[in-house]
Amino acid sequence: MPGKVIDVIEDGRKVVLDYFGERRKVRNDFYQLSVGDYAYAQGGFVVQKVPPDEAAEALAVWKDYLDALESIDMRLAEKGGSLRKRANFVRREATGNSACVHGIIEFSNYCRNDCHYCGLRVSNKSVERYRMSEEEIVEAAGYAIENLGFRALVLQSGEDTYYDGEKLSAIVSAIMRKHPVLIVVSIGEMDYEVYEKLYAAGARGALLRFETSNGDLYKKYRPGHTLDERLGLIRRLKNDGWIIMSGFILGLPGATLSDIASDIKLSYSLGVEMLSFGPLVPHPDTPLASATPPSFDETLDTIARARLMYPDMRILVTTAAETIGRAELSDDVEPIKAALGSGANSVMINLTPRKYSRLYSIYPGRDSDTETIADEHIFFENKIRKVVSVLRSLGRAPTDLGTP
Ligand code: SAH
Ligand code: SF4
Repeated sequence: MPGKVIDVIEDGRKVVLDYFGERRKVRNDFYQLSVGDYAYAQGGFVVQKVPPDEAAEALAVWKDYLDALESIDMRLAEKGGSLRKRANFVRREATGNSACVHGIIEFSNYCRNDCHYCGLRVSNKSVERYRMSEEEIVEAAGYAIENLGFRALVLQSGEDTYYDGEKLSAIVSAIMRKHPVLIVVSIGEMDYEVYEKLYAAGARGALLRFETSNGDLYKKYRPGHTLDERLGLIRRLKNDGWIIMSGFILGLPGATLSDIASDIKLSYSLGVEMLSFGPLVPHPDTPLASATPPSFDETLDTIARARLMYPDMRILVTTAAETIGRAELSDDVEPIKAALGSGANSVMINLTPRKYSRLYSIYPGRDSDTETIADEHIFFENKIRKVVSVLRSLGRAPTDLGTP
């Protein structure tokens, strides 16, 4: 929903948006905004200035509804005894009932790396590889924005140098020209020049996990790479103004509870705008095929611990968490509900065209592996409806989460 600009701060770099009394600081790179204007923000970032009449119409619809959501959240997030209940209470106290939903488009499954955990690793010869054309990517993004209503999109791939800075920035420019949104790239450790071109084209988010804060484990599972290089890139991006989404894989063999605590601490110290961590889902064609993955309970407890350690963090329900939850609970709604009820406040929906999504086999058991609905549009609408109904049932509102 749109927010009303009630203050312009930090030399115009940020504005304060008001949602019927809820205030959020958001970054504004692209628009001339003054007090009294209206804007849509997503992921702590202004994505669109909204004409006053359009804003008034939208706000009339939301006004009463927002109070209703607020009271549902208040009732559900009571002070409680269990770890997860406490985390949900702390989430409410620190970040309110805001929730955001990002879409992800996986545009290539080629990868030059050989990460031990990942089904897309270069040594896995049993994957059928694909690359979406520039037109296909722009079209998929346009569909997600126009037909499905998304305002934040992650463009993800293996580390695929076929898409150089020229190609990627042309894609981002084409999307931004038509629809101003928050574009987050998740393309691995590409040359810095690629990131510079992407920034110039209007991309502002980078999803780049550090995977594990344990340097020895990192070297072992990402042959040929070091944790320092990865952290160096994340820090440089952060320093250059990128909105950082980062985190780790939960349950890599050899990682201890103390490593997990360090993983959470490192995420915080990197200044991530969004914490993204998911459980290892062992892939049969990788060296970690027979690893014991963490349970869904452990995943929820880790979300709760992260929330209790850093109350105002934005924490994503990752698709890997949903995947193991779905397998354990034989249900595709309950896992999202459980994660949002354990301290998480953001959701990611996969919007990759299905002919490609089934080939993006980072890990098995993704929804594209099990889905049965034939019509693609109905399939996506269904997914979105499920997520929206979970958010409603928990009293979460589409007011932006803001930035620190
Ligand atoms: N190639 C890019 C982006 C795609 S991979 C990169 O590596 O940054 C996105 C994320 O998928 C990785 O960061 C990793 O954390 C996660 N991932 C890979 N294999 C996984 C598995 N088997 N289980 C859970 N997460 C996995
Ligand atoms: Fe490639 Fe990313 Fe998978 Fe590693 S995790 S093999 S970099 S796609």
